[in-house]
Amino acid sequence: MTALELIEHGYHVEIFDQTDAAKAASWAGGGILSPMYPWKYHPAVNQLAQFGKQSYLSWNKKLMPVSGIDFEIEQVGMLIFDHDQYDYGLNYAHDFHEPEQESSLLTQDTLHQLNPRLNKTLDSAVYFPQLANIRNPRLTQSVLKYLQSQPNVLIHQHQRIIEFKQTNNHIQAVLDEEGNRYVADHYVIATGAWTENLIDQFGLKLEIKPIHGQMVLYKTPEKWLPNMCMNNTMYLIPRRDGHIVCGSSTNDFGFDRDLREDISQNIIQAALSLVPDLVDFPIVKQWSGLRPGSPTGVPKIGRVKDLNNLWINAGHYRNGLVMAPASARLLREQIQGVATFFDASPYQI
Ligand SMILES: Cc1cc2nc3c(=O)[nH]c(=O)nc-3n(C[C@H](O)[C@H](O)[C@H](O)COP(=O)(O)OP(=O)(O)OC[C@H]3O[C@@H](n4cnc5c(N)ncnc54)[C@H](O)[C@@H]3O)c2cc1C
Repeated sequence: MTALELIEHGYHVEIFDQTDAAKAASWAGGGILSPMYPWKYHPAVNQLAQFGKQSYLSWNKKLMPVSGIDFEIEQVGMLIFDHDQYDYGLNYAHDFHEPEQESSLLTQDTLHQLNPRLNKTLDSAVYFPQLANIRNPRLTQSVLKYLQSQPNVLIHQHQRIIEFKQTNNHIQAVLDEEGNRYVADHYVIATGAWTENLIDQFGLKLEIKPIHGQMVLYKTPEKWLPNMCMNNTMYLIPRRDGHIVCGSSTNDFGFDRDLREDISQNIIQAALSLVPDLVDFPIVKQWSGLRPGSPTGVPKIGRVKDLNNLWINAGHYRNGLVMAPASARLLREQIQGVATFFDASPYQI
């Protein structure tokens, strides 16, 4: 997203990825276009997140004719079943001036009319009709294809950057594992969970660490589950073609991405407790991803202190998809040296 934002403003960009591009956390995530329980987050997270849906609607329109991929922004709304969160949820839109988070309390009859798949024992929910999700594996592929089609973009896959060459307060070049040297005016570190490894040479510690999250994918008929559902941080996300993404977990297993059977069972139990009839449909895939975990979930977006051309856009933890368009814009504006569309100080490095 940072590269997209930069090329749209006239920059030439070279992208390096240590593996296949666009296959890490941004592929693995759920694509919910809102923090889960936004009232639990720092305002700096919600400030970026509130631009997610509108920005993706514009990006999808721009990218689709070139990439041929619709990343499916589905405004299916969200039902939250955590009784202890009802008051926060019902007041949030008004108290924080976020109309996209408007909600209402549904009691038994209206709830089951809206969503007949729900467990009959569920007696109420808070409903957020504006909330949407994107099909993020398609988003990442669409962005990648679009970038690949642009004359001012070069993409190097399976090429790990290991070092920055610095003179005084200026980065002169980056080196990859094979010792190849690449020179640019500006350098952006957007390396998710791996960021700490790369900034170590500057004596920087941003406390970004990999947080393992696991997912289970069901396949139901098209439009089978009408809404996203969430209870006790576990969620179900229906896709347009009937796939339902269920997740997730948060564990510190270092860089180990192995799937764990106990986590899988927890996700399945949580999903079935909300939508029991899912048991009749197959689980078609399971995967995990490494979120770039940071202590408050507020990403670092800006220039590295004492270096005049090194920038970071990382540490988005659980909300990197919804925050991505605004994060990219905030970074691009700082690189350009123009006024930022809102205060960038909470994200300073
Ligand atoms: C299970 C799960 C569910 C999630 N659900 C949601 C959600 O519903 N909504 C939401 O907004 N967010 C969600 N997230 C969070 C979101 O996916 C992340 O915050 C976001 O994708 C982080 O993006 P990123 O570009 O910083 O990192 P990544 O997408 O991980 O990309 C980092 C890239 O940097 C590359 N790299 C690292 N080091 C180097 C190096 N030295 N040289 C070259 N390349 C390097 C990696 O190979 C990788 O491709 C979820 C995440 C997970 C795992």
